[in-house]
This record gives sequence, structure tokens and C-alpha cells, in this order.
Amino acid sequence: MDAQMKSKLQVMKFGGTSVGDASCIARAAQIVARATRENGVVAVVSAMTGVTNRLVGAATHAGAGDAQAGTALLVALRGQHHDALAALVPTGDARSAVVRRIDETLAEGQRLFEGTALLRELTPRALDTISSLGERLCAPIFAAALSELGVRSVAMEATELIITDSYHGGAEPLMDVTRERCEARLRPLLKENAVPVATGFVGATCEGTLTTLGRGGSDYSATILGAALGADEVIIWTDVDGVLTADPRLVPDARIIPEISYREAAELAYFGAKVLHPKTLRAVMPAGIPVWIRNSFSPEQPGTMISRQGRSIGGGVKALTAIRDVALISVGGPGIVGVPDVVGRTFSTTAELRANVLLISQSSSQNDICFIVAASDAQRTVDALRREFAQDLSHEVVDHITVDPKIAIVAVVGENMRGTPGIAGRTFNALGREGVNIIAIAQGSSETNISFVVEDGAMKQALLATHREFGLGGANSS
Ligand code: ADP
Ligand code: ASP
Ligand code: MG
Repeated sequence: MDAQMKSKLQVMKFGGTSVGDASCIARAAQIVARATRENGVVAVVSAMTGVTNRLVGAATHAGAGDAQAGTALLVALRGQHHDALAALVPTGDARSAVVRRIDETLAEGQRLFEGTALLRELTPRALDTISSLGERLCAPIFAAALSELGVRSVAMEATELIITDSYHGGAEPLMDVTRERCEARLRPLLKENAVPVATGFVGATCEGTLTTLGRGGSDYSATILGAALGADEVIIWTDVDGVLTADPRLVPDARIIPEISYREAAELAYFGAKVLHPKTLRAVMPAGIPVWIRNSFSPEQPGTMISRQGRSIGGGVKALTAIRDVALISVGGPGIVGVPDVVGRTFSTTAELRANVLLISQSSSQNDICFIVAASDAQRTVDALRREFAQDLSHEVVDHITVDPKIAIVAVVGENMRGTPGIAGRTFNALGREGVNIIAIAQGSSETNISFVVEDGAMKQALLATHREFGLGGANSS
């Protein structure tokens, strides 16, 4: 079919488990091949499952002066990727070209581990480059698998496509330049009916320095490319049938949600639902491009559609989520009412550190401000606050700045909660009956979520009790 006649343009992202081994890649390539009969397709691939974690682990060793872990990992990765390629592309020149590309990427990895070990310093820039190796090893194999199925395809490094700021480990795309790059590099391929296979997770600054979009960021890569090309839809292929009412690993009777709004899905992602990177929907919201979450292991399932409207269901509460790797920081003391601008000073300190504040709660007597940050940001936040309030602490006006790492946030999400009274009450009654102690509460003014802080050990119980209370499970579904 002529490219001009193709009915839609789809961006399809395949996560780590969906490209976990040769048979998964074959299944994913079949999905793309089938779609190309009707549509133009851009594929975005993650690293094979577990590879990024292993690269980050070896990078940490290299930062401590030990390149051996990196070398051993590269040997293992060579075997893993060569085996996958051999199973997918048994013979031919195409295979030799991919083997060369894999080996070049691994040689670059070796230099990075050695350089890092020599300097005994793992810079954010080196960590990004090392972490990106998994995607860069996977994309050429995926493209070769597509070619085996008779679909023309070209593996592309997203450093050529997604142009970002220079914030390593969580870069933001610069959409105007990204759009120009995608028009220049991807559109011509699509016009020729070829499928570009881009590396997820990575981008580059205008100067060409590699950046990453943050862990789990391939979802975001897909929506950035979708927005840049004005795609008709983005499909995120993963290992579950769609967005569920709660994390299925914690709540066994969680149920698929057929449709959900951008705002609801964004709240779930923000509060830890791993199925979507927190920034994924930002890129597509302005243009209203729908995003599907579908199961690459059961492509016959319809999945979840995330769109501007979503579909309202009765009861108001649509889903629950929880986030565990967080810490509660509190700044307080009887004297703080008198300290000028405590709130302002606290949050300009967190802003300077770029610490992500997930929830804020202040007691009405104003003698305690508590807020939650990612566990990885906790210590440097407390240190910075102690410097900021050093004088007030010495005069005992501020009598404590403390951190509690043994907590979790549970969020109750649903657009229809607005104007549905009693949701907070029902939540807290259900938790009370289970004996779950609530440490702090916050409700966004959009009323799309109510979030509460509980002890880490009570998180699962809190999720189960709330899930039951709102009849979200399979058995009680409304
Ligand atoms: P991928 O490798 O495809 O990016 P992820 O592991 O990042 O996949 O995300 C998918 C996982 O997210 C699922 O296997 C599931 O365990 C988890 N998850 C957490 N909360 C939810 C939810 N509300 N709906 C669906 N999946 C969820
Ligand atoms: N491979 C990267 C990670 O594990 C990106 C992704 O999978 O989305 O974080
Ligand atoms: Mg993911």
C-alpha cells in the first residue's frame, strides 16, 4: 500500500519484558508487521528486561574504581544479544552488520567503564551514556527482526531525534527542535513505507551530548515522538492487559480500566503506577493524541485507552496507587509561627535542589510543615534545610528537622471524585476499621486525587482495604 494511503500513523513502544528475549522480540515484530499493512508505524524499543539495572549497577562499581564488573557484564550482554539475534536472523549480510553494530556499542561500553574506573568518578553524563547501552543494543536487533518479516526498517539512535536540555538523568525535550529533527529524519522513511526503530529512553542536547529521560523513560520517548510527528495514536505495549485499578502485584483482584482520562492516568503515574512514566502524558496532552496501554503477550486484548475525556464510571474512584521509595521530612517546633517565611524558605530550598516534592501538609497551628520527597533526595534535602535554618535551630526557634524513610503514599484517583461527597470519609473509615494509622493527608485542589501517608508496612493493607471499599475489584465491580 502506498504510504499516502496508510490510514493512520502509530507510534508503538515495546517495554523491557516485551523485548525480553528472541521469542518476545519476534512477537513484538509481528505486532508491528501486522500494523504496517494498514498504518505507518514508528517503533520505540527499551533495553531487554533487566539490562539497564545491570548497567547502572556496574557503573556504580566503576565509579568506585572497579571496571571488572563492567567488563564481565559486557561479556554477558554480548552473549545475550548475539543469541537473540541468531535466533531471529539465522544467516546473511544483514546479520553480520548487526553483529558489528552490537560489538561497536559494547566496545564503547568497555571504554566508558574503564574511563570511569580510572577517574573513580561516575559523572551524571557518564551514567547516562552507560545506561543507554541497553536500548542501543536492542534497537538494531528489533529492526533486523522486522526485516526478516519482510518489513523495511531502520534502527535509529534517538540522540538524532529527541533534543533535550542538559539535565542528565531526567532531561526535558525541546519540542521545536525535536519536531524539526523528526520531520527531517523520520518522515522521509515513513513516506517510503519503512519502519524507523528508535532507541527509547535517550536523547541528546543541541551539542550532541547524550542524555536520558529518567528511569522508565521509554514511555515518554514514545509520546515525544508521537507529538513531534502529529501521530494519530501512541501504543505502549507492555506485560499487562492495560491500566489496572491497582498494581496487580499488590492487589490480586485488580481489574482492567477500559478508558481513563489523561488527568487520571497522569495522577496514577505521578504517584508510582509503574505502568507509565510520570511524564508520559505531558507530550501528547496539548494535541489530544490518544495513548493505548496494551499487552504484547495478548495483543487480542483491547487494552486501556487514555484520552482527554476518559470515560466516567459511577462511584467517583477509578484507581489506586502507592509509592514506597519516599521519605517524610518535617520542619517544626513551637517557635516557627514567629519565623518569617518558613514555608517559602523550605520550598525554595527544595526547588534549588530540584528535589521532587510529592505531597505537602501543614498543621493549622503552623508548628509543623511536613512534605514528602523521593527517598533518593531525602538526605541532601535535610542537609540543605539544616543549613538554611541553622540560626533558627541554634536559637531553638525551629526545634527539629527530621526525616522518616519508613513511609508510603497511597493515592485514590478519579476525575469524578469532584462533587462526590464522602469519598475521603469512606476512605478513612475503611482504613480505621483495618487499624491503619494515617500520618498525613492531602487533597489536590483539582480533586482528582486524595493522597495519604501511612507506615511503609501498612501500605498493602491500606490498598486492599480501599480497593474493597470502593468495589474496584473483579468480584464487586459495578
Ligand atoms: P515495561 O517494561 O513494559 O515498561 P513496566 O514494568 O515499566 O513495563 O510497567 C508495567 C508494570 O507496571 C506491570 O507489570 C505492573 O506490575 C505494574 N503496575 C503498577 N501499577 C499498575 C497499574 N495500575 N496498572 C497496570 N500495571 C501496573
Ligand atoms: N530501559 C530504561 C529503564 O529501564 C528505560 C525504560 O525501560 O523505559 O529505565
Ligand atoms: Mg516501563
